[in-house]
Amino acid sequence: MSTHPETLALHAGWRRDEATTAVAVPIYQTTSFQFDNTDHAAGLFGLSQLGNIYTRIMNPTTDVLEKRMAALEGGVAALAVASGQSASLFALLNLAKAGDNVVSSTDLYGGTWNLFANQLKDMGIEVRFVDPTDPEAFARATDDRTRAYYAETLPNPKLRVFPIAEVAAIGRRFGIPLIMDNTAAPLLVRPFDHGAAVVMYSATKYLGGHGTSIGGVIIDGGNFDWEAAGARQPALNTPDANYHGAVWSQAVKPLGPIAYILKMRVTLLRDIGACISPMNAWLILQGIETLALRMRAHSDNAAAVAKFLAGRKDVAKVIHPSLATGLDAERAAKYLPRGQGGLLGFELTGGVDAGKAFINALKMLYHVANIGDARSLAIHPASTTHSQLTAEEQAATGVTPGYIRLSIGIEHIDDILADIGQALDAAAG
Ligand code: PLP
Repeated sequence: MSTHPETLALHAGWRRDEATTAVAVPIYQTTSFQFDNTDHAAGLFGLSQLGNIYTRIMNPTTDVLEKRMAALEGGVAALAVASGQSASLFALLNLAKAGDNVVSSTDLYGGTWNLFANQLKDMGIEVRFVDPTDPEAFARATDDRTRAYYAETLPNPKLRVFPIAEVAAIGRRFGIPLIMDNTAAPLLVRPFDHGAAVVMYSATKYLGGHGTSIGGVIIDGGNFDWEAAGARQPALNTPDANYHGAVWSQAVKPLGPIAYILKMRVTLLRDIGACISPMNAWLILQGIETLALRMRAHSDNAAAVAKFLAGRKDVAKVIHPSLATGLDAERAAKYLPRGQGGLLGFELTGGVDAGKAFINALKMLYHVANIGDARSLAIHPASTTHSQLTAEEQAATGVTPGYIRLSIGIEHIDDILADIGQALDAAAG
């Protein structure tokens, strides 16, 4: 099989339906799967045999999505779930219990921030937020109960590229895996190539690409030695009462280096039930077929918009990796040589009022709380996606009152620039 993403996106994990020879992946819209006999059923439940049981835990359509994502990322296995939110929750709950902690970058999507700062806290898991400018901040926040590091590759709104290799190497010193949310940069960077142990996505965004379906995916790099991490990772190295006392790093060995993702499937997904529907898995697979083409178009168009905005007098600041300077520019060049993504932000000299006037004057760009759609989108984060955060928390994640976030789509660049230009003129009064 090729290693080219353009090819993997169309072929990995599927050739044809054995029953009908159908080329397109069928939508297996079924809850359950008939067992051959009681021995077969017992083998599936006991994990001595892999196969379909019930769609809350696995499904053949979803299986193709999981295999395709594992192949595209260079990982060993994946788990698709109901949303990006459930993907980041599962990624951490798979390792941390009440009393444990996780060290996370401050640069996060607002929903992830809420999940970490409030929901996980209520569950007894502390998330320690550190500024990723200095990778050693992760080491300083680490103690005996630290189970994971977490960060976004290209976090909006700051769009500072995360130092993946630097923080992954620090984690490996302690036996701590780096979990990367790569939602904003699929195919532009493969975090496993830089030492990350787990990658997760909101598949709702670029993977699906058409704004039709909510979904999430977690991918196991198979590159982290859970057994060697010993007491640092009790969730994988001590008997798990959730599954007949299985010690995952041991029990899963015959199946390959998939202890992390298999544990997640048969305990968290089974018990919490945040499964993706086969229909949504299929829609996301359709999106992935054209992901390489779209990521190129998103990146080219966003770089052109950044240049256009930087030339306007009514724009105080433009944030896009192509305009980064200093260390941020070095990291953008190191991690995103294939394109710098479709997200960008800017601040109008007119502040919050001009920001709102700009949004209200847009004719083609949609005003929605989403990113990664094939269509161009705009939002004012302080009054929407980040509104549940305190003023200090907003500032820590990079949201200022007049900040506008754009998710640049794949329309013709002339039409994108024309709409942004007329809305800027309208906002300037
Ligand atoms: N991670 C990032 C970077 C996101 O932008 C989002 C959603 O905007 C999520 C996670 C959550 O994903 P979902 O909306 O699919 O739950």
